[in-house]
Amino acid sequence: MSDDRACLPFWEGFEVSDLQVGQDEIQITLVPARDPPVRCSGCRCTGLPVHEYSHRRIRDLPMLGKKVWLHATFRRVACPDCGTRREAVSWLDRHARLTRRLADTVSAWCAKLPVAHVAELFALHWSTVRELDKRRLGAALAALPAAQPTRLIMDEFALYKGHRYATVVLDADTRRVLWIGEGRSRAAVRPFFEGLGPVGCARIKAVAMDMNTAFDLEVRRHCPRARVIYDLFHVIAKYGREVIGRVRVDAANDLRHDAARPPRGQAGALVIAA
Ligand SMILES: [Zn+2]
Repeated sequence: MSDDRACLPFWEGFEVSDLQVGQDEIQITLVPARDPPVRCSGCRCTGLPVHEYSHRRIRDLPMLGKKVWLHATFRRVACPDCGTRREAVSWLDRHARLTRRLADTVSAWCAKLPVAHVAELFALHWSTVRELDKRRLGAALAALPAAQPTRLIMDEFALYKGHRYATVVLDADTRRVLWIGEGRSRAAVRPFFEGLGPVGCARIKAVAMDMNTAFDLEVRRHCPRARVIYDLFHVIAKYGREVIGRVRVDAANDLRHDAARPPRGQAGALVIAA
């Protein structure tokens, strides 16, 4: 590449001083541009002396099917208010090893694909992608309006091949998951009602659940206005398991005893044949 610095518009405040294209990777060296003036990343003030320079290797969005590595030189300023601080960089978050546009793109893909697939797609470590996905989910959750449920659904599900259980509570009207906790005992679900508070609990009119005594007792204790509703699926499943199943076992046992004696009709037939 020539000595003239390329003014590519992708890294505001920086110029490309070198660009190497390899078989799988593109290495881009960035140095601070003259414009805009250096700015403190804490208070955003300008006109500060440069205290020192630091170097960082950063991943950016892939280009033409190749990984992009940036080798950037940043200025650290001596700010009277913030102390020694890295300059403000519009395309890179503090302490980040990925550019903001790469982080945003990876986060957007996490809404569509499993984390492992996204990690493979962008050749990033699984934990890096997982962290970005957690941040995306946290932001999405924070943007939701505060839940004010009046009708709940409580259910349990198995963890670790059925050795342990967890409980999930949903808003029956919005289908939004409100709470998940490990365990299915009264003590395990109590934090949900404590978090909901007396006003929130008083707002609850109905709670659908399986025929779990712990849920039932805990709802009646915290939600004075709530009606407990056993959902039809669990009622039929329990009826099939405990009533129909019992009748079938009893009937099978009766038939087994009968089978020990020769059937009456068969004995008569033998007599006639003789
Ligand atoms: Zn400052």
